[in-house]
Amino acid sequence: MRPFDYKAPKRLQEAYAILSQANGGPVRPLAGGTDLIDQLRVGRKQAAIVMDVKHIPELQRLEYDPRKGLLIGAAVPCYRVYENPAVSQHYPAIREGAMLIGSWQIQHRASLGGNICNAAPSADTVPPLLVYEAVALIGGPRGERQVPLERFFTGPGQTVLGPDEILLGIQVPPAPPRSRSRYQRFIPREEMDIAVAGAASLVAVDEQGVIRRARIALAAVAPTPVRAHEAEALLEGQRPTRTLLEQAGEKAVLATKPITDVRGSIGYRKELVKVLTRRTLVQALADLGIHLD
Ligand SMILES: Cc1cc2nc3c(=O)[nH]c(=O)nc-3n(C[C@H](O)[C@H](O)[C@H](O)COP(=O)(O)OP(=O)(O)OC[C@H]3O[C@@H](n4cnc5c(N)ncnc54)[C@H](O)[C@@H]3O)c2cc1C
Repeated sequence: MRPFDYKAPKRLQEAYAILSQANGGPVRPLAGGTDLIDQLRVGRKQAAIVMDVKHIPELQRLEYDPRKGLLIGAAVPCYRVYENPAVSQHYPAIREGAMLIGSWQIQHRASLGGNICNAAPSADTVPPLLVYEAVALIGGPRGERQVPLERFFTGPGQTVLGPDEILLGIQVPPAPPRSRSRYQRFIPREEMDIAVAGAASLVAVDEQGVIRRARIALAAVAPTPVRAHEAEALLEGQRPTRTLLEQAGEKAVLATKPITDVRGSIGYRKELVKVLTRRTLVQALADLGIHLD
């Protein structure tokens, strides 16, 4: 590993001052380090300064307000997210995504912010955040801004973050009334693997059981995580049936641009998208008390 300076600011303004030195060489934020340390070790990333962001209070906030929704600080580790009662009650797919990251030990270090900023197409916490239309809160010495998470990713390992910006947190709007969500991924092993494909679905229904809102997001089947807008449009305004959910699975494939790699072929990934989309929709509806024959 090449030598670098290590800094651990305790205040946001201190972090911004360090980031303003970014033109002297890359400043790499470190949260849990479960991606970054390995990337530095094998030379996939370089750093002049590694800036540990775990000690900045704003990045450790995890707060729920029924009117504003859920705020997840960028350095909050996965275990705090999935152990949080408000997350379990209002955002089940976010809980499921956080519970899938690595092992118990990894979940005590790895943050949602790190999973997002690493920008792997297979990131398990991202599709659940996308179905809730989460917003990325970004800050740096030039000011703060907000970007819908759907527009945060620009390619594999690439995001809209400038070299002097960090992710401060994620704002997740309140869950729609009468809604449930689910996330599922497929891996060839029991655990500790990267998704061959993943799907999160959210459905909200009215009192008659008609789907009023549908959101579907996919992992590992395009250069970035993606929303399946055509499948969502097909579902909205409809009464759920097995046939409709099958058709939604087929439409979800239109949002994908998968590649063939060691984990699976293009055709296999497309098939997985159909199955995982349908299954997560069936489960979310069942959680709402709607059981399809
Ligand atoms: C054994 C093992 C199993 C794993 N299993 C899974 C899995 O099942 N699913 C999955 O999705 N991932 C998995 N991962 C990958 C990894 O654990 C996750 O991506 C994790 O969420 C990264 O979080 P972190 O806090 O460790 O990030 P770090 O390693 O600290 O950072 C990751 C990247 O984000 C940047 N970064 C971190 N915080 C910020 C910030 N606030 N602002 C700007 N940039 C920032 C860093 O500079 C770095 O480029 C696994 C990793 C290991 C080692």
